[in-house]
Order: sequence, then structure tokens, then C-alpha cells
Amino acid sequence: MTDKRIDLHMHSHHSDGVHAPSVLVDLAKWKGISAISLSDHDSLEGYPELASAARAAGIEVMTGVELSCEHEGRDLHVLAYGVDYDSESLQGLLREFRAAREERGIRIVEKLAEQGVRLDIAKVLAKAGGGALGRPHIAEALLEAGYVGDHSQAFVKYIGDACPAYVEKFKLSPAQAVDCIQAAGGLAFVAHPGYYLDDLDSFTDLLELGFDGIEVYHPHHNATVTTRLLTIARDAGLLLSGGSDFHGFAGRDNLGEPAVPYALFERIQEHLEETRRP
Ligand code: AMP
Ligand code: ZN
Ligand code: FE
Ligand code: FE
Repeated sequence: MTDKRIDLHMHSHHSDGVHAPSVLVDLAKWKGISAISLSDHDSLEGYPELASAARAAGIEVMTGVELSCEHEGRDLHVLAYGVDYDSESLQGLLREFRAAREERGIRIVEKLAEQGVRLDIAKVLAKAGGGALGRPHIAEALLEAGYVGDHSQAFVKYIGDACPAYVEKFKLSPAQAVDCIQAAGGLAFVAHPGYYLDDLDSFTDLLELGFDGIEVYHPHHNATVTTRLLTIARDAGLLLSGGSDFHGFAGRDNLGEPAVPYALFERIQEHLEETRRP
């Protein structure tokens, strides 16, 4: 047995996280984490920097990305692990995703202006720095402009799902995401399934779509949910993953939590090697 731990779910400034990939490696090192994956929303752009910093720090890495999907009318996130960074089909899809996110951000800013809330679009776009623009960037701009006192107020008053300035995001079907990930040599995992367990039929249907695994360990999952997911994964013969979903937001110093055993990383690596064998 080993008490080595991993964290396979975190975000950098290439999507809506705060830190650079190399800073995430420093934090992981400081927390004693042995293997990591950067799972930015709709972007693999942080991987080269992460991989070189991790090599220097003696931490193992694999590619990762979190895709936005819709399943039976609900948002669903799909995690990809071990995809080929150079896959043209996947990189093309991710570019399309980011362009759609930028257009959506502009539409949100326009809708805010209709309500008399004026944000400088150039400043909002700059917050994403060419990466995947998300509502947290707009929340940050609202905060800076003095319209709200914190991020959560921005979601309650202006950009939450039920608000007048809300704009839908471009989303894939889970089946499209699974196909694209597997075509790029990776494995597809359902992210934080604890959010969907209230509709077990819908969740069970989802698993039929060819997923390789599910994210069992996540800060949103309590001990009961984690145990349920372990049973579901075992019965369905699925791989397990887990991580902190760390974004670097103030007051959320949770990289490396909950604790995720290193054995999961080894199983995923073994599986990737088996699927790559001709
Ligand atoms: P987007 O992908 O642009 O729709 O933004 C979704 C992200 O916004 C999530 O990953 C969260 O980080 C953040 N978010 C969503 N709802 C809230 C909320 N009520 N309060 C604070 N942040 C939120
Ligand atoms: Zn995020
Ligand atoms: Fe997510
Ligand atoms: Fe995430």
C-alpha cells in the first residue's frame, strides 16, 4: 500500500481558474501530490507548461480537459484524460468551443447593458486572456466595476441561470463528447456525478453511452455519495477518478482535497496503454 495521492481535476487561467499551470504544479508539490491533471474547461492550452513544470518537480501528469455537455435538458460536464495533445479533431472542437464562449460573453455584456449595467467588453475579454471565457470572468468584471460585492452576488443578481442576462452556452451531447475523446486516444469520465444522482434513471442511461469511468472523489460528494458511486462504478466495470476542482478563488485553498489514492492514476495509465496497443 502507498499513501501517495493525486489530484486530477483543477483549472488554470487558460479557463476560469486564477493561476498559471506552473503555479498549480508548485501548489501540488507543496501539498505532496504525486500525479496531477489540468482539466481546464474547453482547453488543452495549459498542458505544455504544466508538463514541463511537473517534470522539473518530479510530479507525474496526464492531459485533461473538461467539456460542457447537455444531457436530458441538464448541464453535464465530461472529463477527458490521456487524450493526444496534438489531435487535430479535438483541438479543432476546442477552438470552436472557445470561439462560441467568446460570442456568448459578448452577448451577456450586451444584455447587461440593456439593464443599465455597463462593462467594458475589452476588459472582460482580457480577463480570459484568449482562453475559455466563462461567467466567473464576467462576475469578476462586475465586482471590479462595483456592481456587486462578490462573485456569488453576480450570479444571483445578473448572470445566474435564471437571470435576465443569462445566455446559454454551446454544448455537446455526451455521446459526441465520448466519441471525440476516444477518437483522440483518451478516456471519458462523467464529472462530479453527485449532481445528477437525484435522477438515477437518467444517470444510468448516461453510462450506457460508452463512458470509461466516473469521477468518484470530488468536493461536492459527501461520504454517502462517494460510497454509492464506488458501488455503481464497480457494478458497471468503470474506472474511477477524482480531484479537487481547484480554481484558485480566494478562500478556497482546496487543491489536493479530497484525498484521492494514487492507485486510480495507475489504473487509468494501464487502461490507456491497453487501448493504445495495436
Ligand atoms: P460557464 O461555464 O461560463 O457557464 O460558468 C460556469 C462556472 O461559473 C462554474 O464552473 C462555476 O465556477 C461558476 N458558477 C456557476 N454558478 C455559480 C454561482 N452561483 N456562484 C459562483 N460561481 C458560480
Ligand atoms: Zn470552472
Ligand atoms: Fe465541472
Ligand atoms: Fe471543473
